[in-house]
Amino acid sequence: MDKRILKSLFFNTWIMREIGTIRQIQPKLINQIKPTKGRQKNIKVGPLVVSVLVPLILLVPVQINVHPPMILAERFWPGAGWIEIFVLEIYSFVLTYLILYKEKIKKMRLRYWLFFSVIFFLQLFLGLLVNEKFLMSGKLHLPVPALIVAGPIYRGGGSLFMLILLLSTIVILGPAWCSHLCYIGAWDGFASSRRRGRPKPFSRKYSIIFRYFMLASVLIVAFLMHKLGVNALTATLFAAMFGLVELALMYLVSWRLGYMFHCTTFCPIGSLVTLLSKLYPARIRIDHNTCTLCNACTVSCRYDALRAEDIKKGKAGWNCTLCGDCLDSCHADSIYLSFFGSKKNAWSYYIATVIGVHTVFLALARL
Ligand code: SF4
Ligand code: SF4
Ligand code: SF4
Repeated sequence: MDKRILKSLFFNTWIMREIGTIRQIQPKLINQIKPTKGRQKNIKVGPLVVSVLVPLILLVPVQINVHPPMILAERFWPGAGWIEIFVLEIYSFVLTYLILYKEKIKKMRLRYWLFFSVIFFLQLFLGLLVNEKFLMSGKLHLPVPALIVAGPIYRGGGSLFMLILLLSTIVILGPAWCSHLCYIGAWDGFASSRRRGRPKPFSRKYSIIFRYFMLASVLIVAFLMHKLGVNALTATLFAAMFGLVELALMYLVSWRLGYMFHCTTFCPIGSLVTLLSKLYPARIRIDHNTCTLCNACTVSCRYDALRAEDIKKGKAGWNCTLCGDCLDSCHADSIYLSFFGSKKNAWSYYIATVIGVHTVFLALARL
């Protein structure tokens, strides 16, 4: 064959191959630069209404019936509780709108979770240093989550308010306590977010064994302290030491490894929440028809619930708290929230309810 024809054939084949490769790569590149949002583009009224109704239904009866008032503004200026409720309604509406239609949940969630925690602790300090109106009842206890179950066991009864509150949120929202509502967990989330890139979790098997060992240990120790009649000062010092160990773990482990080691391995309430929320009908699922098994979404999960083996199975791992951070991370839109097996509007209504309850916590949660 003529040398020129051979050259032209080779050149054309090369060009065609390169164009084919570019065609394959281009959508991937575009998707990596502009990940799809993984949510509706058309504004739906239903979830926004839910975000307003939840605080309305929960806060108005408190404002009318509870004396002395629990809404902070009402404690200082009679009647101002209604203004506070109105402002909180707007907050709940705007936050839900931003999460559903404007911003990424991963970016927003840690911010409003930390905001709640800061308000919670600010009220504690103001209550101790400035005016006791900033406190719930004046009967202080340490803000250590383990005390939610250990406290009543040690006291042999007493107030079950926090335990009932925790169980109620699990019934309504599954594991959202550990991704949106806990005043301590926000700081583990903050610590884990400091490390960029892929989280480096320990063995999941041993982590799960250890977390239930911690839950059992805390329950047994609280029971023994009750039976042995350990005095309140010793019990408080013990709880304070436990809290300091928790803070150290956040700084020394979660911060360095980039995942919420404290919440997924150490905290007994986290273990309880994870266990009980398996009865809740919502799950994070991965659609294998569209998933390319690229594992890019693993980076977005700070709860060690989205390893390669979870992605292959098509569902989030044991520790999933339905935080939603992974939903925006998938270029193929393959990750979704399933509620009773259906994904239609599941995430919109779920997060709208979570934001409503978060708003109620902003108004009422204090020590
Ligand atoms: S694991 Fe413990 S500290 Fe972490 S969010 Fe849950 S209850 Fe709070
Ligand atoms: S679900 Fe995860 S692994 Fe599958 S395509 Fe999306 S980012 Fe990649
Ligand atoms: S799998 Fe997704 S929703 Fe579940 S904890 Fe991880 S990032 Fe959050």
